[in-house]
Amino acid sequence: MNRILIIEDEETIAFLERDYLELSGFEVEIENGGEKGLERSLTEPFDLIILDLMLPEVDGFEICRQVREKKNIPIIMVSAKKDDIDKIRGLGLGADDYMTKPFSPSELVARVKAHLARYERLVNSTQQDNEIIEIRGLRIDKTARRVWVDGQEKPFTTKEFDLLTFLAQNPNHVFTKDDLFREIWDMESIGDIATVTVHIKKIREKIEKQTSKPQYIETIWGVGYRFKI
Ligand code: CA
Repeated sequence: MNRILIIEDEETIAFLERDYLELSGFEVEIENGGEKGLERSLTEPFDLIILDLMLPEVDGFEICRQVREKKNIPIIMVSAKKDDIDKIRGLGLGADDYMTKPFSPSELVARVKAHLARYERLVNSTQQDNEIIEIRGLRIDKTARRVWVDGQEKPFTTKEFDLLTFLAQNPNHVFTKDDLFREIWDMESIGDIATVTVHIKKIREKIEKQTSKPQYIETIWGVGYRFKI
């Protein structure tokens, strides 16, 4: 069932929109304030947002801008003033549709359905297969960020995963610890190249049958590491 968030400070309008949408089978939540509305838009899995322009705390322009930075779900903006619609268009905030109050609730429902259908087509057409790296018994799913060794899944921390994936994507290439530290850790991060050594050790414990005779990540003495293929 599609979940819709209505961010609207005029209760009667919010309730009217909700009632019509619920009759059409949608699950609807209402927020009256801009701050909570923005927070929920960013953190909860809504499929569409109906966004009033003039709101207490944070206005619809700002909410639209921030949501668009993170999500591409449809946003329908509503306003009491025709001028505002032109302003929204002019700002290029990325709203999918605009409606001027008062509008007929059935028109709103029709537009919600059209935008959800279009969005679903878009999502389906851009959905790609996961990117997988497979080397002997090692399987790395880059999309899901999961690792299996001989069919058994192993838990990896973020940095361990990044380091293993980077090496596996650049096989037969020797990287110094400095190279790897720069590649995987931000310059601001606490730590030094010893961090690399510690992470290589932990990765080996997970993927190698014998850590003393690694078959994947080879130590090149005095230089660094190489992923064998
Ligand atoms: Ca308002």
